[in-house]
Amino acid sequence: MARTTPPTAPTPPTSRAASTPPACTTVAALLRQYDGFLLDAYGVLVHGGGQLPGAAAFLRQLDAAGKPWLIVTNDASKTPANAAERYQAWGLPVAADRIVSSGSLLPEWLAHNGLRGVPTCLLGPASARAFAGGNPLVAPGDRTWQVLALCDEAGFDFLAAMDAALSTAIHRLDRGLPVAIVAPNPDLIYNAAPARFGFAAGTMARMLSDALRLRFGEAAPTPTLLGKPHGPIFAAAIARLGVKNPVMLGDQLATDVLGARCAGLDAVLVGTGVSSWQANRVPPSEAPTWLLATVGAE
Ligand SMILES: [Mg+2]
Repeated sequence: MARTTPPTAPTPPTSRAASTPPACTTVAALLRQYDGFLLDAYGVLVHGGGQLPGAAAFLRQLDAAGKPWLIVTNDASKTPANAAERYQAWGLPVAADRIVSSGSLLPEWLAHNGLRGVPTCLLGPASARAFAGGNPLVAPGDRTWQVLALCDEAGFDFLAAMDAALSTAIHRLDRGLPVAIVAPNPDLIYNAAPARFGFAAGTMARMLSDALRLRFGEAAPTPTLLGKPHGPIFAAAIARLGVKNPVMLGDQLATDVLGARCAGLDAVLVGTGVSSWQANRVPPSEAPTWLLATVGAE
């Protein structure tokens, strides 16, 4: 079986008491306090159909204040260039070099794990295929694939492809053949539109992992997760931002906030997306530093 980096859960630093609600903050206060901004996209700047109110003005505000910023997104459905085109079509001033995506970490992961050049099944739209790093791409039912890359839940016949991928994985594992499963995007849920939600690519990793575990128990391959809250995407984003005191803005406690805190950053929970702050339900490891109602007009 191919050796892969296990999806070790990030370990948070010292805990804030869960019963202590974070203070509310404002964009103006954040601009005074921090010298750079890492921004989640969905639920902070955009939903599945356009920008959230005030998002473009917020980005211009950061530029006017001379604060460097990057979008740090678990989206692995499209390249940064494709994503930038989409953001621009929605009126956001986002260039491709402003985007750090979980999908863009995949080529390095393949190389690091000795999986360059091996047959790969990549699930996602055509715009995600570049993340295979030149590996030969084959269909889910092709029994030669060694790597299964679960980039996005759209762009293919979901149930048929997942059934075929599951069957191929079982075929290979029954014969002692290597199977490596990687899920750049660990998200389970995303904002499809205001007040409407959808299942995200991380659900595919859960489905396959749980199904394979029923047959193979502890010997089942564990999917490797690259995006938030896991460390690789934060390390890449912090290095690229290049400032001493950045802050992370996100709408999900279990990905944006937990990941930021594990990376040693302050984290702002923005109230226009998935998570809501409920002190009695949030584990201390996921407690944000600040609450912000919206990046738009206050
Ligand atoms: Mg989000």
